[in-house]
Amino acid sequence: MQKLLLAEFSPLAFIAATPSGVKTLQPLCEDNSLNIWIPESLREISGTQVYSTPLKNHIANLWETHHAFVFCLATGAVVRLIAPLLQHKSIDPAVVVIDEEGRYVISLCSGHQGGGDRLARLIALQLGATPILTGAANVSGLPPVDLLGMPFGWRRGEGNWTGVSAVVASSGKVHVIQDAGSTLWQNNLPDGHPFEFEESTNVQAQIFITPHTFGHKHCTPTPSPLLPTVTWHPRVLWVGIGCERGTSRLVIETAIQEVFREHQLAEAAIAGIATIDIKADEVGLLELCRERNLPLKTFAGDVLKSVSVPNPSSVVQKEVGTPSVAEAAGLCASLELSHTQEEGKLVVPKQIFRLPGEVGAVTVAVAQAEKEYIGRSGKILLVGIGPGQLSQMTPAAQMAVSGADAVIGYGLYIDLIAPILRPGQIVEALPITQERQRAQRAIELAEWGLNVAVVSSGDCGIYGMAGLVLEELQNKNWDGKTPSIEVLPGITALQAAAARVGTPLMHDFCAISLSDLLTPWEIIEKRLQAAAMADFVTALYNPRSQTRTQQLVIARDIFLKYRDINTPVAVVRSAYREDEQVMITTLEKLLDAPVDMLTTVLIGNQSTRTHGNWIITPRGYLGRGNG
Ligand code: SAH
Repeated sequence: MQKLLLAEFSPLAFIAATPSGVKTLQPLCEDNSLNIWIPESLREISGTQVYSTPLKNHIANLWETHHAFVFCLATGAVVRLIAPLLQHKSIDPAVVVIDEEGRYVISLCSGHQGGGDRLARLIALQLGATPILTGAANVSGLPPVDLLGMPFGWRRGEGNWTGVSAVVASSGKVHVIQDAGSTLWQNNLPDGHPFEFEESTNVQAQIFITPHTFGHKHCTPTPSPLLPTVTWHPRVLWVGIGCERGTSRLVIETAIQEVFREHQLAEAAIAGIATIDIKADEVGLLELCRERNLPLKTFAGDVLKSVSVPNPSSVVQKEVGTPSVAEAAGLCASLELSHTQEEGKLVVPKQIFRLPGEVGAVTVAVAQAEKEYIGRSGKILLVGIGPGQLSQMTPAAQMAVSGADAVIGYGLYIDLIAPILRPGQIVEALPITQERQRAQRAIELAEWGLNVAVVSSGDCGIYGMAGLVLEELQNKNWDGKTPSIEVLPGITALQAAAARVGTPLMHDFCAISLSDLLTPWEIIEKRLQAAAMADFVTALYNPRSQTRTQQLVIARDIFLKYRDINTPVAVVRSAYREDEQVMITTLEKLLDAPVDMLTTVLIGNQSTRTHGNWIITPRGYLGRGNG
């Protein structure tokens, strides 16, 4: 199972108690340096490590440090093992149980916040098993309330999470008051979802998505204190800091806390700290950022100077060459991610702060960005989904799609993979003519921090989207690392078509697309000529559209110069899809066959022959030609 996909669960422990249990878990550990924990009695099995204390103690030892546990044990035994260790769903690790034969994957504990449901789905895809998810949100196809903001790096604030989740589970109306952060999560909600975005009657719960703390004074509509309520905090606030040299972390931190309290802002909504470049080595600032895992953005005085701020200071101008540090740096940082916001939004103008008995002074200002800071670097998964049927898509590709935050592709392909899409996933189906937009959108989302799957039919690297995404990245001077890329191959049309008619590709073959939209026709003709002459079995992709009708005629004429009129030809339309059509004909009669843009044409070589409904290209074992 792929490292990349399991990374979010690391460290992860696999535990089996029988040889068949080890066998079931092994495919999950293959690509990883992960070992399976086994009892002393099974010591001989390779790829395992032995626990010598009783399992109960062993699990207790791993409990605090591990994010997830995957047991191949009876559920009852697992329940007894973990019961004394469980504390709260917000901190417990994910616990997944698999039956010995690997038919069922149960998300037992910490399904939402611990990611157990996600892990169970990924494992089930890999094993071809059924995931068993019993959380209420899974029934309705809704994103769980306590996971809603995870893809965007939002932080959970105060609230009655269980109460709001219960209302969602019972289909009660939930009022969503969102004044910051991405609304992409709203785009793919199922019909009949319980969320109300306008004020409405009979509301039973509230979700606030805001940088403010609950009940702050500017909030409209006024929150009802009687309803179960939760708050998500998108990280939109950039704290601009100016300080005297040597100001301690304590002073800076206290200043930020005071400012946030006074303005009813949530510290969880802090995206990062911004200041002038000469403060890049300020110890107190660096300590604060490290401790709180916040980015520190620094800007040159010249940049800060050009920002218009409400409270410029001539004293500051004299000292560091710009009339504003805190306000200007906060504003600069808040504008960095944004493509649309032209002017910064200062939510707290600068405030100067000292702490009695402590050296130094600090100036704090807070700017709000339009787009939240996710705090992760994104990934692009370039996925080939195969010809159509899900069973022809690799488990790795299925996992990549199911695990992604966002899935982008042409509508027909999205429909084909609908059963493996996850509630709450961002799904963007763009029309077939907008390949560049699709690639750019994927890059934009991944640069922001999302994990994006771009799906193509067949193989994504064969007349698919993968190449375009890499080209666009290259145009943007991509460093080759961020966003990271993984390519997941799929069964391409020529393989799918061949499988339906036998073994036409048994010898040297090539693929040629007859579409001259992106390739000059002279080149296509040259390649057809070369393939025909060199006796390659040839797969024709994009053979004929409503307007491009002559290309196939010319291709056939070229092949007829070198091959017999009776050369077997397969015409396969929509292989492995509902309306599949398979026809075996000859080069002579090719033009009578129904050929369109959903068809692949396979032209045999000089030795290819038919036998009943099958096409055979000899490999040569039985001698040359007809053997
Ligand atoms: N990336 C795809 C090819 C995309 S180009 C792949 O690797 O298969 C589109 C062309 O592929 C179509 O015009 C058709 O020639 C072929 N094609 C794609 N899916 C097909 C299918 N299920 N059956 C037959 N041909 C198919």
